Amino acid sequence: HGDRGAYDRTVRTVCPFCGVGCQVDLKIRDDRIAWVEGADGPANEGRLCVKGRFGFDYIHSPQRLTKPLIRREGAPKGLNVDPANPLTHFREATWEEALDAAAGGLRRIADEHGPRAVAGFGSAKCSNEEAYLFQRLIRQGFGHNNVDHCTRLCHASSVAALIENIGSGAVTATFNEIENADVAIVIGANPIENHPVAATYFKQFAKRGGKLIVMDPRGVGLRRHATHMLKFRPGTDVAMLNAIMAAIVEEGLYDRQYIETWTENWEAEKAHLARFSPEAMAPICGIPAETLRAVARDFATARAGMIFWGMGVSQHVHGTDNARCLISLALMCGHVGRPGTGLHPLRGQNNVQGASDAGLIPMFLPDYQSVTDDAARAHFAEIWQSGDFSAEKGLTVTEILDAVHAGDIRAMYILGENPAMSDPDLNHARAALASLEHLVVQDIFLTETAMYADVVLPAAAFYEKSGTVTNTNRQVQMGRPAVPPPGEAREDWAIIVDIARRLGLNWSYAHPREIFDEMKRGMKSLDNITWDRLEREGAVTYPSLSPEDPGQSIVFGSGFPRQGGRASFTPADIVPPAERPDADFPMILTTGRQLEHWHTGAMTRRASVLDAVEPEANCSLHPATLKRLGVRPGERVRLTTRRGSIELMARADRAVAEDMVFLPFAYVEAAANLLTNPALDPYGKIPEFKFAAVRVEPAGGS
Ligand code: SF4
Repeated sequence: HGDRGAYDRTVRTVCPFCGVGCQVDLKIRDDRIAWVEGADGPANEGRLCVKGRFGFDYIHSPQRLTKPLIRREGAPKGLNVDPANPLTHFREATWEEALDAAAGGLRRIADEHGPRAVAGFGSAKCSNEEAYLFQRLIRQGFGHNNVDHCTRLCHASSVAALIENIGSGAVTATFNEIENADVAIVIGANPIENHPVAATYFKQFAKRGGKLIVMDPRGVGLRRHATHMLKFRPGTDVAMLNAIMAAIVEEGLYDRQYIETWTENWEAEKAHLARFSPEAMAPICGIPAETLRAVARDFATARAGMIFWGMGVSQHVHGTDNARCLISLALMCGHVGRPGTGLHPLRGQNNVQGASDAGLIPMFLPDYQSVTDDAARAHFAEIWQSGDFSAEKGLTVTEILDAVHAGDIRAMYILGENPAMSDPDLNHARAALASLEHLVVQDIFLTETAMYADVVLPAAAFYEKSGTVTNTNRQVQMGRPAVPPPGEAREDWAIIVDIARRLGLNWSYAHPREIFDEMKRGMKSLDNITWDRLEREGAVTYPSLSPEDPGQSIVFGSGFPRQGGRASFTPADIVPPAERPDADFPMILTTGRQLEHWHTGAMTRRASVLDAVEPEANCSLHPATLKRLGVRPGERVRLTTRRGSIELMARADRAVAEDMVFLPFAYVEAAANLLTNPALDPYGKIPEFKFAAVRVEPAGGS
């Protein structure tokens, strides 16, 4: 790896892993990627992390899907297929046969049981054009909005709070803007592992004297650079954040002029906060009142402050309330819309921002236009030359699987998502997949989800295709094909078009640029951004105010996209976790990612360098907890919740509280989501991945 020998050509494109969106230069030799260098993209300025630099050879894996597959008559569905030898359960088919079977099955179920018996999961790992086409396929082809993707599992609650209170679901400032901040809060995020290149900017900020305030129940790596580390009790975010805001009110440190000019509902928020003094909240959140007051002063009196957050905030039944608090904190201090200020939910997947912008969500059309908005639906019906479609908000990821169990949904088209690993309470999710009468899965590997499919369609990987992606910074970037897809694998957009045609839709696109041009007709966010510009410039940030403007890295300096141009405060109350520790399950389980592996592991566990570094399923416990259990680091433990049990290797980590266990979710052999709680946040409909009651025992013990 990293063999720096001769190469034939260089292709500049975008890293396919996380939402940072680093640009890469791929060095190609004999139509294979020989090595990768960081390119001078707007988000990364030449930097890369271990995944972007060394995690590329999954695309040359012998396990890539190279031909369409159809399930053999009577072959059982489930995780009993060897991905290296799928022909035990599937037979190879021609594209014609597979597309006919895939589309024919969807049409048959729709005809027999009504179009609502068909639903779709799209992907945050495909391009903007592919996300757009996929939601169009479900809406135009079946007339409803039962289409969603993994944003539901990561930042749906953040987006709900942002749209509610500032009128937009995207970040108000790029993460690079931290260069101009005096103080920054990073809460519920572990950027050193999950957004590693963004973390380099955070570390530089701290090094030049910026006040870095880290808040997390786990002592994440960024604590070593922090001026304050608030290791609060899991699930007590609202108590802690309300206490900080209450201190700001008590000490009169809020920005009266900003509040008066740009916000509404302040008096209600202020009155609400009176119940949350730092002294009252300290025993709840576990942070001393003096520390809460010190943080309040640092943030409120700073010239410029930013707030970054991750899934430690969003993946709770109170995820939307957590985000509401962060928005209120920024607004009351006037830390939005100026250099060095802003709200930034750190996006997970490489294109989760773009897929959401493109309408791959059940309640919004492209650009977050509500499906209940008659004019917006009419506009898209005109663009698509179709009839109207449902004004009813569609079902979300977890609701769709519940509807499968109820028998209301009988067929699914799943593009690049892996719910057999990513959804909470996996036994429930897998049983739903197994019960479908017809399942079409389109992916680059025979994922755990594809093992339940009736038809598997082999897709090109990101480095094999053309398409745009949008990172956490709102930067729309050009992805360019570097190597040919293996065997008969094809670009996702072309497969979606072929399915659509078989469903009777009169689609004709010859290239993704035509899809991008169509998107621009319905998405004002893409004004002044053209395919040619992206080819030329590589990246343009939206909004872009002119054909020459590289885009606005900071927005909302002069009003918000809400009625009257004002942002709003929404007071948040304390809502406890859905499941609390008790005598049977006395500890707290929290799940997350680790540096070397990406989400369900489909790519990184087939990337030889990354898998060599982190080959084994593991969890982390405090050394004192291990001692109490009589388990040495490296030995195995059993984790059991009300939903399931797994066994895996235990590591010692002092950063984990003594009553917690941290569990990465990339490992199929010890799948974390067999244990997680499917309880949902009522607004964002996001599951509580960050909190479940768990019992930990030595493996083999009673
Ligand atoms: Fe890729 Fe994210 Fe690493 Fe950048 S930080 S190289 S986008 S995984």
